[in-house]
Amino acid sequence: MLRSAVRPMVAASRKSLFSTTAKRDMKILAILYDGGKAADQEPRLLGTTENKLGLAEWLKSQGHEYIVSSDKEGPNSVFQKEIKDAEVLITTPFHPGYLTKDLIESAKNLKLCVTAGVGSDHIDLNAAVEKNIQVLEVTGSNVTSVAEHVVMSILLLVRNFVPAHEMIERGDWKVSEVARNAFDLEGKVVGTIGAGRIGFRVLQRLLPFGPKELLYYDYNPLPDHAAKEVNARRVEDLKEFVSQCDIVTVNTPLHEGTRGLVNADLLKHFKKGAWLVNTARGAICDKDAIAAAVKSGQLNGYAGDVWNVQPAPKDHVWRTMKNPLGGGNGMVPHYSGTTLDAQQRYANGTRTILENYFAGKPQEPANIIVGLGKYESTAYGQRK
Ligand code: NAD
Repeated sequence: MLRSAVRPMVAASRKSLFSTTAKRDMKILAILYDGGKAADQEPRLLGTTENKLGLAEWLKSQGHEYIVSSDKEGPNSVFQKEIKDAEVLITTPFHPGYLTKDLIESAKNLKLCVTAGVGSDHIDLNAAVEKNIQVLEVTGSNVTSVAEHVVMSILLLVRNFVPAHEMIERGDWKVSEVARNAFDLEGKVVGTIGAGRIGFRVLQRLLPFGPKELLYYDYNPLPDHAAKEVNARRVEDLKEFVSQCDIVTVNTPLHEGTRGLVNADLLKHFKKGAWLVNTARGAICDKDAIAAAVKSGQLNGYAGDVWNVQPAPKDHVWRTMKNPLGGGNGMVPHYSGTTLDAQQRYANGTRTILENYFAGKPQEPANIIVGLGKYESTAYGQRK
């Protein structure tokens, strides 16, 4: 028999936040990416439709319906059909189920959106605020994974690694052809747009390379002890900031204030031949302006794993853009934050959020992006 049926008085009197009676019979929809053969062979690929974040057995044992699919586009997709009466939506930034205002309007039972990972821009957060739908992330779950990827991307651009490796695969050996555009990271000025969890970890990891200076641009200043630890100087004007950097890395969420932030106008203020790494969100950088800047050599290279549309179309210009010397492209699919280590952490974190929700327990404050009717995070734009 269901516990809620055994203890109806308790459920009725404390049914809000601190109910001790577990919720059951809930419809939980998860939009994940297909792992195919890889997911069958590697069970640690938890964020796939095959392995279902490792939650299937547990949710079933709790009496919930758990629907998992990758089918997310168009009115007949599983996502758009099932969202209409789901109470909980789980999504992942790696294969984003775009929860638009219209879909939110149609989702009459929806109360909780959980991002398995970090970055909830695929959800219309303002509409979620209006409709009292909570949006939570597994904050911090993959920030080290991404910070490592950023440092790797900076190095592969600055050292001209990709063309050097391609040369070797082709069977060629012309050292001067790749050395003519290879530099040291030591002695360069590196700056991060956004100095939150990832941006700060990037600065920490860059310090031992002996940069000339580390800079950051963020409306939330680093705490004094953190700024001191990484010896980073804050620059408050974005154009001034980029004009001082040899290397810029983007580490902010995507929101109204960052969409298209790195555009043709801002790129004119970059040092000629600077490098740009963006693992935050593709749409923070203007697709065509970036491609033009790489082609002209205004940027010596661009690297990252995030795209303005995901999956990126086959003919997306960022797949093949090159600088005038035939290098400068460090693009990969969106995977920096989905290492096997990270998948374990965000799968565990998703489960904890669900456990709290079922039990009516308070959530970890750092995980709450949108609480009931308001933003709880200061990272998705400056609001009063
Ligand atoms: P965070 O909340 O800890 O830090 C974000 C920082 O950006 C905050 O300090 C905030 O003040 C700053 N910021 C916001 N808007 C800004 C603006 N207009 N100008 C300057 N600074 C601004 O978040 P985090 O954990 O560091 O993650 C940052 C973003 O990285 C995520 O929102 C997500 O989009 C992306 N991410 C990507 C991957 C991946 O796999 N590629 C994985 C995790 C996160």
